[in-house]
Amino acid sequence: MTMILDEAFICRLCGHSSTQAVIASTNKFGHSDFDLRPPEMARSTIYHQIQTCPKCKYCAGNISADCPSEFSKKIIRQDYLDLYNNPEIPEKARQFLCSSMLLASIENKVDAGWGALRAAWICDDKKLTEQAVHCREEALAHFEHARKNQQHFLEDEYAEDLILTDLYRRCGNMAQATETAWACLKRNPSPRLVDILRRELELILDNDQSCHNLKEIA
Ligand SMILES: [Zn+2]
Repeated sequence: MTMILDEAFICRLCGHSSTQAVIASTNKFGHSDFDLRPPEMARSTIYHQIQTCPKCKYCAGNISADCPSEFSKKIIRQDYLDLYNNPEIPEKARQFLCSSMLLASIENKVDAGWGALRAAWICDDKKLTEQAVHCREEALAHFEHARKNQQHFLEDEYAEDLILTDLYRRCGNMAQATETAWACLKRNPSPRLVDILRRELELILDNDQSCHNLKEIA
């Protein structure tokens, strides 16, 4: 089962002490989604994977951890504050996007991409399709940028292709989703990945932008 504990954290940027939730333990039963979102109970821990300093509004996975000092200037900028306060995006999704914005500003496009994808998962939970697409487009931009710079967001480059295919499909960009899937299939991925990508191509043909789970693959 999932165990969440409250602990005191000192904000690295402003020194303010606040209580934050920490995931002490969790587990997984079942299959992940095509974009690797885990099954329960780990699935729900997403809401505790981002912290925010209530004083200076710094958002990070761990607000006490070492971070670039330049973040202090970025969190008082209007674009950061506008995002932090955007009422159209769920609060936790906003916090992931704020963290993503900071990470992208120091060219950490890998973690910026994962932050944006986690924001999308929260929007999915709230059934906010338009906002989820926006978050996925951000994740795609970061992941594509990372790849161009030889940074990998997963150890397996074929699995990266699967995530990109799924992201494009969920955004409704079926042409790019198809191209990404076929580019991977032509490089002879594992039989398991071939099965998943074939399922993706079926979904693309059906113009299906919804969430799908790996339990669909025999
Ligand atoms: Zn702070």
